[in-house]
Amino acid sequence: SESKIKKPSWLRVKLPTGENYKHVRGLVDTHKLHTICESGNCPNMGECWGAGTATFMILGNVCTRSCGFCAVATGRPEPVDWDEPQRVAEAIYLMKVKHAVITSVDRDELKDGGSTIWHNTIKAVKLLNPDTTLETLIPDFKGYKDQIQAIIDAAPEVVSHNIETVERLTKRVRIQAKYWRSMEVLRTLKEGGMRVKSGIMLGLGEKKEEVIRTLEDLRDNGVDVVTIGQYLQPTKKHLPVDRFVHPDEFAEYREAGYNLGIDYVESGPLVRSSYHSEKHVIPGYGK
Ligand code: SF4
Ligand code: SF4
Repeated sequence: SESKIKKPSWLRVKLPTGENYKHVRGLVDTHKLHTICESGNCPNMGECWGAGTATFMILGNVCTRSCGFCAVATGRPEPVDWDEPQRVAEAIYLMKVKHAVITSVDRDELKDGGSTIWHNTIKAVKLLNPDTTLETLIPDFKGYKDQIQAIIDAAPEVVSHNIETVERLTKRVRIQAKYWRSMEVLRTLKEGGMRVKSGIMLGLGEKKEEVIRTLEDLRDNGVDVVTIGQYLQPTKKHLPVDRFVHPDEFAEYREAGYNLGIDYVESGPLVRSSYHSEKHVIPGYGK
């Protein structure tokens, strides 16, 4: 069903235009890459692409999973493209950005879960862009430690894995994923020495105390950076918006996160996992 409630003023954003936007648009097309900015209908495209940056989505644009909030297509993905790591590295080089974000679809049908392409991509980006910091927003790899280790071995500056919602709503929102398996993934990353990040969407039916509980669980599993943003329904077929959370409530969660001892909390209606990602590299920046 479609969300009946009208979008509040704080969610109205500018459409992308300008030279930087055209530059990013061109690079994405000529390098045959995908972005979560477009696949996820992100409201910040004007700002991010206008600033010359985007979040690349590797391993194709068809996902084996079917999360209820996500606009990425579900189905049988294309075969793995072994040249993709190099094209991503070149696109980042041509974007001349100091910081880049990469994510992927889930490839549950692959024996390695896509972890080899992930490893190769991080390595290729680092080789060609030694001064560019990198955030990798990874899937849960079904919790397989050797696959998570392939990410740790490639050593991106930040590794994120989104918990997306509170424990009670996980089955409805993330379907094939599990709340505690994702917590375990985060813990494994932390134990591997990574700077670890996770994100929550609000407006899916969660209660305040459940949000706080989730922040506690993230803290307990070693998460350094948390992003909290408003869920927006990408199409009528996706989960409806339960409510539009007021910016003041987002501010409360930021405060709560800092009181729990989380290093950096980014909380607001337009916050997305990759929003302001360049700041999440730096310990203590948010305080
Ligand atoms: Fe892309 Fe992330 Fe910016 Fe949205 S917030 S436009 S997904 S980089
Ligand atoms: Fe979307 Fe990721 Fe879920 Fe796939 S696993 S449907 S890309 S959120």
